[in-house]
Amino acid sequence: MTDNRLLDAVDALTKPTVDNVKQTTDDGTYIRTVPVEHPPLLQQLADAVLPSGSNDHGGQSASASSRNVLDSTALYDLLLIQKQLLDMCSWVNIVGDRRDLPCTLRKWYAAYIGRADFDSEQWYLGQLRRWADQIRARTEPPKTFEAGYPCPICGPTPWVDTDGERHPNMLIVEYPRHEPDLTRARTICKNPNCKAEWVGVGAIAELGDELKEREVTA
Ligand SMILES: [Zn+2]
Repeated sequence: MTDNRLLDAVDALTKPTVDNVKQTTDDGTYIRTVPVEHPPLLQQLADAVLPSGSNDHGGQSASASSRNVLDSTALYDLLLIQKQLLDMCSWVNIVGDRRDLPCTLRKWYAAYIGRADFDSEQWYLGQLRRWADQIRARTEPPKTFEAGYPCPICGPTPWVDTDGERHPNMLIVEYPRHEPDLTRARTICKNPNCKAEWVGVGAIAELGDELKEREVTA
């Protein structure tokens, strides 16, 4: 292996992180810096399935009606990651524990780097980063901006949401908040009947060419 990117991706999913948060003391006289620990990302996802109200890591309080209710999108994400991780374990001949995903991922990594074949490293790196993005997106919504072009698939006609509100059919670029460059950005069409998506710089460059051609022929 040439670098530690795969281990970094494993760490990002399995190790707790500490943020220094500034707090004003109760009497308001001075500001102190308090370390706040966040559980590993994989644990955050498991916690999100059944919110207890006390583990509110994202700072967004759940409304009273949504508290103590199974979060079905978190459950779906969790089941998918569990399945993919257990498959990865079987490929390196170990048995994973679906109830402890951080520990299982670290066991997988130890087994994986013990093998001589690293052809698949890039694929695994992409897989682990996707999981981290998916989990972070729950608490840290991605940054977005309007691409300035309508969707080339479903056209420029505005679409109407379930509340009857009209939305201009402009493509939106989304990228992870913690990664300011656009290498892992995706361009999406918000029209629920289309949902076209271009992921990564290669796909976005192709989309750019297509949009340019349209401008020329229009
Ligand atoms: Zn579209």
